[in-house]
Amino acid sequence: MLFLISVTAGIEKSVHKQITGKGMKRRMEFIRKKQYTAMLDMEKDGVRYLQFPAFTKSGVCRHLFSTRIGGVSTGDIGTMNLSYSRGDLKENVDENFRRIAGVLGCDISDFVLSQQTHTTNVRLVTVADKGKGVTCVQDYRDVDGLITNEPGIVLSTFYADCVPLFFVDPIKKVIGLSHSGWRGTVGKIGKVTVEKMTGHYGCNPEDILAAVGPSICADCYEVSMDVADEFKNAFSEAENRDKIILPKSENKAMLDLWQANLAVLLQAGIRKEHITLPDICTACNKELLFSHRASGGKRGNMGAFLVLN
Ligand SMILES: [Zn+2]
Repeated sequence: MLFLISVTAGIEKSVHKQITGKGMKRRMEFIRKKQYTAMLDMEKDGVRYLQFPAFTKSGVCRHLFSTRIGGVSTGDIGTMNLSYSRGDLKENVDENFRRIAGVLGCDISDFVLSQQTHTTNVRLVTVADKGKGVTCVQDYRDVDGLITNEPGIVLSTFYADCVPLFFVDPIKKVIGLSHSGWRGTVGKIGKVTVEKMTGHYGCNPEDILAAVGPSICADCYEVSMDVADEFKNAFSEAENRDKIILPKSENKAMLDLWQANLAVLLQAGIRKEHITLPDICTACNKELLFSHRASGGKRGNMGAFLVLN
């Protein structure tokens, strides 16, 4: 028997301890894109998830980004699939939500789900929305962003390469989540979310902490020129525009959605030192994360979850 202990610091160390041996699986490590650790790799009751230290330190919210590990779904959508519309059994998805609720210390009737269609629509969520999408029917459509200032409501958005954006204002105690795929990024849903937090709850963008979650990296995200052109137009003023679109051939370019969303968040007035960029790509880690590109569309959904204390 061999004990495998990672060299990462602090809280991670204990959860990295794993036994390898006959019939036991060795813990898989994430391939990280940077040298720093923007996200902590955590585990509770067999559920593996990622967290941003800056959000944990804020002390006003609980949050996580799920992985494939720790659920009951099988096959291409195994094991932690959090979508009711990708061919999974309802009872499996219910159980997966129950396990996520266990990690967050809440009930499955506390979740409020987005209804994502690549819009820039952001919904103000209240206690009346609790459970919508899990324990009761959603009475809204085309919602790619969620914000609230009410404690105990678990905002929930879903991913398999697209970019999750997390927001918390620790002063006004307001949270937000938005789904920023390439269309949402061109439409700057991150900025729309911040504007709603400012307009409805009186947040100051300079107080807001933001984090860009696990999603497809620039090395894995090749796009056609028409998509690249949309980014050229949308980000012509951005200081980092040369890092967003990386020409590859006459018809193709590589797109950096992390840099594009950084530009969106800065334009929204968030301070650079308040923004966490990801170091984990979904497509580079297809054993651990769902990736639409890397799986050819055979995949489940992961979730971003954020709740005010
Ligand atoms: Zn990648």
